[in-house]
Amino acid sequence: MSSRDPVSDASAPAEKGPRELREEVLDRGLCTGCGMCLDLCPYIEEMGENIAFISDCRGDQGRCYAVCPRTPTDLDALRRFTRSDHRSGFLLGPYESVWMARARDEEVRSRAQYGGTVTALALFAIETGRIDAALLTAWSQDPDEPYATMPLVARSRDEVLSASGSKYTAGPTLKALDGILRGDARKVLVVGRPCQVLALRKRMRIEDPTFPGERIALVVGLFCMWSLSYRDFEGMIEPLAGGRRLKRIDVPRGRFIVETDREAFELDHDSVRPHARQACRTCFDFTSELADLSVGSTEWKDDWNTLIVRTGAGRDFLEEAVQKDRIEIEPFPKDRLRLLEEASFNKKKRVLEQLEQQAKTTGMEAYLRLSREEKEFFLSAHGPGSEE
Ligand SMILES: Cc1cc2nc3c(=O)[nH]c(=O)nc-3n(C[C@H](O)[C@H](O)[C@H](O)COP(=O)(O)OP(=O)(O)OC[C@H]3O[C@@H](n4cnc5c(N)ncnc54)[C@H](O)[C@@H]3O)c2cc1C
Ligand code: SF4
Ligand code: SF4
Repeated sequence: MSSRDPVSDASAPAEKGPRELREEVLDRGLCTGCGMCLDLCPYIEEMGENIAFISDCRGDQGRCYAVCPRTPTDLDALRRFTRSDHRSGFLLGPYESVWMARARDEEVRSRAQYGGTVTALALFAIETGRIDAALLTAWSQDPDEPYATMPLVARSRDEVLSASGSKYTAGPTLKALDGILRGDARKVLVVGRPCQVLALRKRMRIEDPTFPGERIALVVGLFCMWSLSYRDFEGMIEPLAGGRRLKRIDVPRGRFIVETDREAFELDHDSVRPHARQACRTCFDFTSELADLSVGSTEWKDDWNTLIVRTGAGRDFLEEAVQKDRIEIEPFPKDRLRLLEEASFNKKKRVLEQLEQQAKTTGMEAYLRLSREEKEFFLSAHGPGSEE
């Protein structure tokens, strides 16, 4: 058992609710736009890309506070809950194995962001009856908001394929989750960014008779360094895309490339980057550490993915998908693993320094509760490699 930081070890006060969600998260620009609180309360609504209370909620306590990824978060407790504490890796979170992976299906690969691993996993789960629905993020169908996203509850091959590709804004996809679980879906697969995976695990962990968390069969998390503010993204894209539908966006190694159905253009990465959401500056997780399976780019071979297996459920599912020839895997090269760890280390160190600084200036405790050992690992001068 690791020694713990006495300041940051207090449990999340159970008596907090909507007032504190507003003061500690919304008013401080820390909302990640995950969407988890939206269907919990009639007073919380989307206002453009922001989440806001439309009228005063008088509740003292609230699930909205408990499930938010930016309210007090005991990471080790969530790791134990996710049953991914078998190997405690600080750099990439707990995991069993890391692979190069891609879809076997060529149509999937041609429509997907990289190797199509996420789309192939969702398709395999639906087509073999392991799930009834997958909660995905698609481009909006609203002609007035062509660059916005929407949650897509996919039940067929066409629907899963229509959600493929990365949208680099923070769509509040999780707002659709309660609705799916209230409906007829017995088993559901959820795909999300790290902040969404964190919110989902918090939701699954709290006692809530209205939320049958056991019906979530698999959580597939994406890697994510940052996402853009939707309004800023729209402002940058509109003059170039002229309202045309976006086919693909990619951020390969310091570039920002946008393709419409007619043409491709490139934005200056350094001028795009400052438009990341404010909440992303305090995001400690790069690789969706609480997912069953985490998927990202390889930053090397564009038609492959990096795939991290974290839980038994993730491992079993992947093994079957490989056996049934839906996913192809190869060993992950050691030198690439070192680069991945380095990227994660840099994000975590930067964020912890920022959180420490904020705590000093505001006198408010940081939302993230880590063991002293983990905190010191990142705040000390050590880099990747010092964990071995
Ligand atoms: C905002 C964002 C930032 C990212 N940053 C990085 C990064 O820094 N480094 C890295 O290696 N990878 C990053 N990724 C992940 C990467 O872009 C791919 O999503 C991932 O590699 C899976 O590739 P794939 O070929 O399997 O995707 P596909 O098979 O095309 O599947 C993509 C899936 O992503 C989901 N999705 C798309 N946009 C969003 C969104 N905004 N929020 C939630 N889900 C979404 C869709 O539901 C779809 O199922 C990021 C993704 C997003 C959305
Ligand atoms: S981060 Fe998620 S749960 Fe928290 S306020 Fe924003 S949308 Fe709601
Ligand atoms: S960087 Fe973190 S907070 Fe921002 S979208 Fe990605 S996972 Fe969410």
